[in-house]
Amino acid sequence: MTEDQLREYLEFYQDLGIKQLYRKSVSPEQAAVIAVPAALVERPAPVILPLAPEHDTLEKIIQDMGDCKRCRLHEGRNKIVFGTGDEHAKLVFVGEGPGADEDAQGLPFVGRAGQLLTQMIEGTAKKEGIPLLRKDVYICNVVKCRPPENRTPQPDEMEICGQFLFRQLEVIKPKAICALGSTAAKAVLATKDGVTRLRGKWHKWRDIPVMVTYHPSYLLRPYNQDAKRESWEDLKKVLHFVYD
Ligand code: URA
Repeated sequence: MTEDQLREYLEFYQDLGIKQLYRKSVSPEQAAVIAVPAALVERPAPVILPLAPEHDTLEKIIQDMGDCKRCRLHEGRNKIVFGTGDEHAKLVFVGEGPGADEDAQGLPFVGRAGQLLTQMIEGTAKKEGIPLLRKDVYICNVVKCRPPENRTPQPDEMEICGQFLFRQLEVIKPKAICALGSTAAKAVLATKDGVTRLRGKWHKWRDIPVMVTYHPSYLLRPYNQDAKRESWEDLKKVLHFVYD
């Protein structure tokens, strides 16, 4: 591995929020050539995952996922929920992970939260005079298998599945990403900050602007009127930025 490849490799994991990688022990000659920081060498159990291949496509990512059993979430799933929408979309929405409806249908955001998301996208676009339907954007999740009892995905699950999310984003190369809720924000921005702090402002994933807003499931709770209004503001910002 060249120095440039190693740098790219490490940046990839940094984007995933991983602060340490473990390498199989190397010969002193190899160690001298590669000059990896001490924290990265001579630890057991390497977690070396493949980088995005050249000329990657969504199809290739699906093939690489296969009948994925890389983490415990496969145990309870019915269907892998890869993502849906326009492969050339200018805008990608990233949610947390499939719920029961999504798990049954193999499609993201098709349950109650999904209906709200569709309304938010299409309703806001219409009000703002932007001709946009849900099918024109791309929608996916951080983890592709339903967590048991809809619990929040765990860091190792996000880390393992994050490689596929990042490949999706690299392939689609949208003009902007909208992270829905704190799991998506954590995965995309590698931050511990919560949605309240992050929302409404532009951030970046690699070179792509990222807007964080509330997850539609949170907005479904009856007492969240302020969050609803704020979410609509966030979405307006995103839509005008992408489609004006
Ligand atoms: N919540 C999510 O985060 N994703 C879905 O696909 C459905 C509900």
